[in-house]
Amino acid sequence: MLAHDDTIAAIATPPGAGGIGIVRISGPGSEDVCQVLFRPKSTAGPLKSHHFYHGDIVSSANGNAIDEVLVVLMRAPNSYTGEDVLEIHCHGGNLILHAVLTEAIMKGCRLADRGEFTKRAYLNGRMDLLQAEAVMDLITARTDRGREIALAGLKGNLSEKIQSIRSDLIEILSFLESSIDFSEEEISSPEFSRPHWQEIEGILASINGILETYREGKLFRDGFNVVITGRPNVGKSSLLNRLLGERRAIVTSVPGTTRDFIEETVNINGIPVLLTDTAGIRKFPEEVEREGIALVWEKTLMADMVIVLVDGSTPLTEEDVEVIDKNRKKPLILAVNKSDLTHQIPDKHISEVFPGISAVWISAKYGEGIEALKEKIKAMALDNEDYSTSDLLLTNLRHKSALQKAASSLLAAQSGILNGNSAELTAFELKESLDHLGSIAGDTTSEDILDKIFSTFCVGK
Ligand code: GDP
Repeated sequence: MLAHDDTIAAIATPPGAGGIGIVRISGPGSEDVCQVLFRPKSTAGPLKSHHFYHGDIVSSANGNAIDEVLVVLMRAPNSYTGEDVLEIHCHGGNLILHAVLTEAIMKGCRLADRGEFTKRAYLNGRMDLLQAEAVMDLITARTDRGREIALAGLKGNLSEKIQSIRSDLIEILSFLESSIDFSEEEISSPEFSRPHWQEIEGILASINGILETYREGKLFRDGFNVVITGRPNVGKSSLLNRLLGERRAIVTSVPGTTRDFIEETVNINGIPVLLTDTAGIRKFPEEVEREGIALVWEKTLMADMVIVLVDGSTPLTEEDVEVIDKNRKKPLILAVNKSDLTHQIPDKHISEVFPGISAVWISAKYGEGIEALKEKIKAMALDNEDYSTSDLLLTNLRHKSALQKAASSLLAAQSGILNGNSAELTAFELKESLDHLGSIAGDTTSEDILDKIFSTFCVGK
């Protein structure tokens, strides 16, 4: 265990008024700080670990109570950080929490850096780096599916998988190294190389299997940008509201109402989708509207997917066709709205004018076809591939690039074996691969990368 000699403190709950607010303290001085700050209601001798005590936090200036609280001391190593941790459960108000934190600082604590509690947990071996990163994903998850995947990461499912790949690799490496010790000869005999080439192939398959889950994992973690576009009055704002399940955009029958953008994140069948409602595209816009329209083209260019909305109660117009044509290179869904009114666009016409474009009839106003549209968005986001029900998904770019590097070292080792390279060189490449795999869980991660990772956390986490 890596002992820190300083004791850190921070407010662990979000700002604002709440039922409770927690000041978290971690380090060797936690219990001493408790002795001086906390006045228990009943004196019960030394504090028992993992027990709540009721009392007051008192001001060092005048001995007056700052707040009536519950404190819990969690002695090392059975705490989040692996150190002595003191949590002071106060009433949830900014003023109270800051006053309690200030007292703790006056009693020798240091204000914690961003993510420092989790960093200590990692340095003290309470979790590996991948699990520490999953903590942040868990807190910021925007859908249940995202939460499940992050929780699986926190529970160590992906860490275990990578660890087992590492063990397999270590086995090959140790065999190779022992053969280097026994002979100075080059290891190019087919009896030796063939089985190793095969074993490496097996490891590569496992790594590639994990890499293949990245697209899906990233989607559920980071989400997807969808822009709704179309001419004015086709029902774009109504569709945004329908997908959000609330009235957010202004819906009017006057064309050209949405001149700016409205962006909202919405959970579409487990995927956090950033939906953008844009200005209506029309031929002769007014001044302000023109700017809005210019921006629409920019927005749609950046989008991961575009929903072109047309009004199915009127025949297709030149503008509709223009919008579709301009977005043809994008993953595109054609949503034909106002299905509750008389259909003026025959399906046959759609498939003739826009071959290969997937169309769905909806009624933004009454909800008809919305579930089908959501399914279509999800299917297109997942590239029409079956999505897995496994929670063992790769979500993090850092992990992905480490796995890719590990795989390319293995490929180099494999082609070296085929070319009759020396055992030393093959061993070197296998070690390189091991290092890349090790960087995922943090076994071989440099200090500056660690700092970078934890600096994205919030204070108190
Ligand atoms: P936008 O300009 O494209 O954002 O269109 P709005 O969402 O503001 O809608 C324009 C008009 O069409 C409003 O009067 C809506 O009530 C109406 N509208 C939108 N969707 C539907 C629909 O599915 N059915 C019918 N009948 N009217 C709709």
